[in-house]
Formats: sequence, C-alpha cells, structure tokens
Amino acid sequence: MNDPSGDCDIAIVGAGIVGLATARELQRRDPDARIVVLEREDRVGVHQTGSNSGVAHAGIYYVPGSLKAKLCVEGIRRLYEFCDEHGVTYERCGKVIVALDRSELGRLDELERRGQANGVPGLRRIGPDELRELEPHATGIAGLHSPQTGIVDFAGVARALAAQLEAGGGVVATSCAVGGFDRRDGRTRISHACGETHARKVIVCAGAWSDRLAAAAGADPDPRIVPFRGGYLKLRPDRRHLVRSLIYPVPDPDLPFLGVHLTKRVDGEILLGPTALVVGALDAYRLRTVRPRDLRATLTWPGSWKMMRRFWRTGIDELRMATSRRAFVAACARYVPELRTEDVVDGPAGIRAQAVGRDGALVDDFVFSEASGALFVRNAPSPAATSSLAIASFIADRAS
Ligand SMILES: Cc1cc2nc3c(=O)[nH]c(=O)nc-3n(C[C@H](O)[C@H](O)[C@H](O)COP(=O)(O)OP(=O)(O)OC[C@H]3O[C@@H](n4cnc5c(N)ncnc54)[C@H](O)[C@@H]3O)c2cc1C
Repeated sequence: MNDPSGDCDIAIVGAGIVGLATARELQRRDPDARIVVLEREDRVGVHQTGSNSGVAHAGIYYVPGSLKAKLCVEGIRRLYEFCDEHGVTYERCGKVIVALDRSELGRLDELERRGQANGVPGLRRIGPDELRELEPHATGIAGLHSPQTGIVDFAGVARALAAQLEAGGGVVATSCAVGGFDRRDGRTRISHACGETHARKVIVCAGAWSDRLAAAAGADPDPRIVPFRGGYLKLRPDRRHLVRSLIYPVPDPDLPFLGVHLTKRVDGEILLGPTALVVGALDAYRLRTVRPRDLRATLTWPGSWKMMRRFWRTGIDELRMATSRRAFVAACARYVPELRTEDVVDGPAGIRAQAVGRDGALVDDFVFSEASGALFVRNAPSPAATSSLAIASFIADRAS
C-alpha cells in the first residue's frame, strides 16, 4: 500500500469522485506538490460515486446563477472529454422529462426556462408524438428533450482519476479512515488508521461523513448530513426494451431530488428509482442497517425534525415505495404504462449525503466552507458526480 504518513503539501480526505478530481486538479496545477488522498474504504469510489443513477446531467434543473447550474454545465463538458481521453465508458443517449397532465405544464415551462438560462445545449420542447418516437413505450402530454444528457461509469472515472494521480507521484491510501485534526504552526496533523499525516492544507470531501469531520476540525456543525437512501429496482432482461434511454418526471420543486426515473445504465441494465427515505445509518445500503451513532446524529439535529414535520406526507409515500414493490412499480408505470410488477427484480441502493440546515431546509446548492488551513465540501449531492471536474477547479482556485 502507498504510505500516506509524514509530511505533504495537501491532504484530501475521501477518495470519491470529488476528492479524486480535486487531487488531480491540484497536481496538474503544481506537479511538484506532494498530494495524499486518505480513504476509509479498501478501494476508491465506493459510496455515492459508485452507487448512483449514473446519469451525466446537462444542467436543466438548477437555479440560474447557482453553483449547481454553473458547475454542472461546465462539468458535463469536461466529463465527456475526460471519458474520451481515458477510455471510460459513457453514452450521450439523451433524456426526456415528461409532463403527465396539464397540472405539470407550468413546472415544465420553468424547467425549460432554467435550462435555456443555464445554456444547456439542444434543449427543446416536444409533444406526445415526438415523445413516442424517442421513447415508444412512454406516455405524457408534453416533454423536454435534452440530447446532451448521458450515462457514465462514474466509478470508472474515479478509478481513472486515481490512476492518473498515482502516475504523477500522488498517494492514494485506502483503508485509512481519518479520525481527527490538530492545527498548529501552519500545519495540520491528521490522525488516521495508518498513522499520521502532516499537511499544509487539508481538503475534506467525505460525502456522508463530511459534517462529522468538519465539526472535528472546529467548523460550524450547521448544516448536518442526513442520509437519504435511494433504492432501485431493475428491469428483467426481456423487458429492457421498454426504456430506450432516460425517462424522468417533472420534479417536485420543494425537494432537491428528481423523483423516480427510468434509467439505462452503461452496462445495459435499466434501473427504476431511486426512492428517497431517511435511514438510520450513513451506509444503510440494506434498509434495516442502523448505526446508533448515525441515528443519534440525525435525531438530535433540530433541522431533522423540522424537515420531517414539513415533508411527512412525502415521507409516507417514500416509505410505501421502499417497502412495496407494487407501489414502486405503480409510480413508474405512470410514465411507462406497460410496466408490471413481474417485470422487475431488486436493484442496488445508494445513500445520498443531503445537507439539512438547523432550520429544517434541505440545502439545495453545493456548499463549501473554509477554516484555517482547511476547506470542507459540506453539500455535494446530485449532480456533483457530473460536476466533479468543475468542482475540482472551483476548490483548487480557493486552495492554492
Ligand atoms: C441514489 C443516488 C443517485 C445519484 N444519481 C446521480 C446521477 O445520476 N448523476 C450525478 O451527477 N450525481 C448523482 N448522485 C450524486 C453523486 O453520486 C454524488 O454527488 C457524488 O458521488 C459525490 O461524490 P463525493 O466524492 O463527494 O462523495 P462519495 O462518493 O460519497 O465519497 C466520499 C468518500 O469519503 C470517504 N470518507 C468518509 N469519511 C472518511 C474518513 N473519516 N476518512 C477517510 N475517508 C472518508 C468515503 O469512504 C467515500 O469514499 C446520486 C447519488 C445517489 C446516492
């Protein structure tokens, strides 16, 4: 294993796609810098990076002027270039966002306006006939077609970034969980499972664990990460023809999630989902996994209760979908009416690291914060995988 101990210029905590992209960007800017990435798992890209819908988002949904809007539009362009350069699998397969009835048309208009304002290439309105041409088994009264949207092997991107970093002399140390920080005389001592590393600058990109590490370094505990499990179903191979590329609903504007969608993956599987259910562990890939420390962190955060009071109806719907395959399939069959419960099998799950403010707000935009000698990624939910290379430049501008 690469030895992460001793002195370095920059230490990055977390070898997800954001941490690795940041490390590589810093190395590109200063090839002589000693850069060390510390990862708690035994390989890179295990958590959100390796357990998501695998969609390269074009930048439609996000409030114009927000970090998400800017970094997603730039990020997808750079992501496709990176995949071309490094042989990572992707496909620019396009996507449709479907309005089922007139009540959704106002929100579809707003998405179109946002997409145009954000400079999403090729975005256009379609009617029911064109929807049928693009997705012969889908139904709806209107839609938006985004030809720029695609599917990507994000874990493959993470592995390619790690390989590049190591080829340039950087260190990626796995099975190396970081426990704490101590800042003295312009350097930070980082204690971890493999010993100690002393760094001039620390960048924490720890996904679901980011608030805990930020607090350990003396940063504000607000916002707190609340884990939202996203469960998927998979179509049986003989029913995969029901979905050609990506079929998305018009999302609820009060929530940062995009709603259950039907998604082709680069390996040919078709995923249905994800659900969005608050769970009792930061790694509750199985619904029943509960870790007392994680559950306590969620339940003692005033924002969790305020959020649950506001969204209890949505929570009940999500619980129903997470526990009943029939309800889950019924939600998807609104878009593809031929879908039946017998067409699906259990799929994977991912855990969203969603920041929730003390006031109960589900934090929508990407959030970064700084303290002496450290920079923290405090909220990097979807589309942070798509945006990772642009996020890396954003962080590097602030870290040098
Ligand atoms: C269900 C789901 C669907 C999604 N769909 C999409 C999508 O289609 N498109 C898209 O762009 N985005 C999507 N996202 C979001 C995307 O996956 C994330 O925004 C992105 O992967 C965040 O990357 P990250 O590196 O910040 O986090 P992660 O990939 O979670 O990486 C954080 C890393 O930090 C490590 N770590 C944590 N604590 C420590 C510690 N103490 N010491 C050392 N290491 C530590 C973890 O082990 C982990 O490897 C989805 C997410 C989910 C969960």
